[in-house]
Amino acid sequence: MVKQRTLSIIKPDATRRGLTDAINEKIENGGLKIIARKDITLTQEQAGKFYEVHKERPFYGELVDSMIVAPVVVQVLEGEDAVTKYRNIMGDTDPANAAPGTIRAEFAESKGANSVHGSDSAENAMNEILFFFKEEELAD
Ligand code: GDP
Repeated sequence: MVKQRTLSIIKPDATRRGLTDAINEKIENGGLKIIARKDITLTQEQAGKFYEVHKERPFYGELVDSMIVAPVVVQVLEGEDAVTKYRNIMGDTDPANAAPGTIRAEFAESKGANSVHGSDSAENAMNEILFFFKEEELAD
C-alpha cells in the first residue's frame, strides 16, 4: 500500500487546554506517524491565507480570529491512506455529530472550537504541507 501524508493542526482551543499530548496519542494509536512538527503562533495574515477557501462563508472572520489567539501545533502525518484515516480519527466538523472516540467527540467544544484541522484531499494536503514546511524538513 502507498504511504500518504496529510496536514494536521492542533488548534488554539486545544493547545490552550493542554490537550496536545492526548490528541497526538489518538493520532498515533490510529496508525499515523508524526513525521514533522512546528509549534507556532499564527499571524492573522497566515491564518487568513490558510483558510482563504472559506473567505465567503459567514464564519470566516471568527475562524481566522480563533486560530491566532494561542499557539497551534502544525504536524505532518504519514501512513496508509493518511488523509481519510485522519479525517476518521478527527470525527465530524460538528462535535455533536462526531463518532464516539474521535478527537472532536472527546475534546471539541463547538463547531468553531473543534480542536483540530485535517486536510480534506490528497491535493489539498500537499499544498497545506508546503504552506508550513520546506521539502528538506520532510526528508525521510
Ligand atoms: P473541517 O474540514 O471538518 O475542519 O470543516 P470545514 O472545512 O467545513 O470548515 C473549516 C473550519 O471552519 C472548521 O473546522 C470549523 O473550525 C470552522 N467552521 C465550519 N463551520 C462553521 C460554523 O458553522 N461556525 C463556525 N463558527 N465555524 C465553523
